[in-house]
Amino acid sequence: MSLLRDLRRHLGWKLFLTYFAIIAVAGIVLITAAELHMPLAFERHLAAMATEMGDAATLEQDLFRNFRQATIESVGLSIGAATVLALALSVYVSRRISSTVRRVMLAARRIAAGHYDERIRIDEDREVDEVGQLAIHFNQMAAALDRIETRRQELIGNVAHELRTPLTSIKGYMEGLIDGVLPAEPATFERIRMETDRLQRLVSDLQELSRVEAGIVPLELRPVSMSALVANTVEHLETQFVEKGVVLETQAAPRLPRVRADEDRLRQVLLNLVGNALQYTPAGGRVIVRAWASAEFVHVEVSDTGIGILPEHLPRLFDRFYREDHSRSRAGGGSGIGLTIARHLVEAHGGKITVHSAGLGQGSSFAFSIPIA
Ligand code: ADP
Repeated sequence: MSLLRDLRRHLGWKLFLTYFAIIAVAGIVLITAAELHMPLAFERHLAAMATEMGDAATLEQDLFRNFRQATIESVGLSIGAATVLALALSVYVSRRISSTVRRVMLAARRIAAGHYDERIRIDEDREVDEVGQLAIHFNQMAAALDRIETRRQELIGNVAHELRTPLTSIKGYMEGLIDGVLPAEPATFERIRMETDRLQRLVSDLQELSRVEAGIVPLELRPVSMSALVANTVEHLETQFVEKGVVLETQAAPRLPRVRADEDRLRQVLLNLVGNALQYTPAGGRVIVRAWASAEFVHVEVSDTGIGILPEHLPRLFDRFYREDHSRSRAGGGSGIGLTIARHLVEAHGGKITVHSAGLGQGSSFAFSIPIA
């Protein structure tokens, strides 16, 4: 019973028995064919030799017996040798195949137990067959899972970190109020309100981020006038620029073609870029919003004369929670999610978003493109 169960459960045994069955069938066929064919062949040859041998019935019988013996001996020997060789080969082949499958199985078990760094060792120099391909694809799958898990852990760490700062401030203010260290006056409550605003912003940004990353933000694509959108956004932010003492300028090419976009989402991207430009440009600086068209896209560029970005930060600026200088940006209330959302939204429209900066103190420029309607 247990032998039968073992047989059913082990690929190596199954392969081995398959080879064994093939050898057995081949042996039976060989012996049967020899048995059936041998007397006829012998009769034929004997008839051909009858003239030389004369009529000797006993000699004929002797000859037949010896010939039969010799044939069975040589066929038996060949079958024996072939069986030993074939069995050795079958053990080798079935071991090789089943060992890779076995390694895949063990690795899968370890990954299921949470060891995402598990990989199957693959002999690089060897030609890979389908079983080898299985191991390679398995490793690729494991690497993808590993990346997802790392990102998940990073996300939890980042979210916890981001929540901690405003919560600690609120707790500090509250304790100060209770202990009577802080005066119970509007300015204190205003600070608490600012921190809760920050928390609220963070939570809604996170919600938005998870939606855009999952690709479940429905876009209502319609022909949208980019010049109207730019004018609109600039007008909306004008007062904040005036208050900070930063000049905001628009340079839109005349008769821009309409783009195929979700107007609200596009406004969100533009507001984020112009808002950042304002945030990272000190008083006395200048922000320019340009818009122009190429064959298939309308391009918008928001450039500023602000603090600029170090070259090493540029490639990761659109990663979530990435801030060029954590302490500096946090003071301004940023969480490093805005650009990630902007990139997802632009890409969902079929466009691209890029950043350039000559370095610290050299200003920055962000540009995105949206397909023409
Ligand atoms: P945040 O909410 O922190 O502004 P973003 O995703 O919008 O998040 O931006 C990520 C980081 O990119 C910012 O923290 C800042 O370091 C950098 N950054 C964005 N825009 C500018 C800009 N115009 N000038 C300089 N640095 C910028």
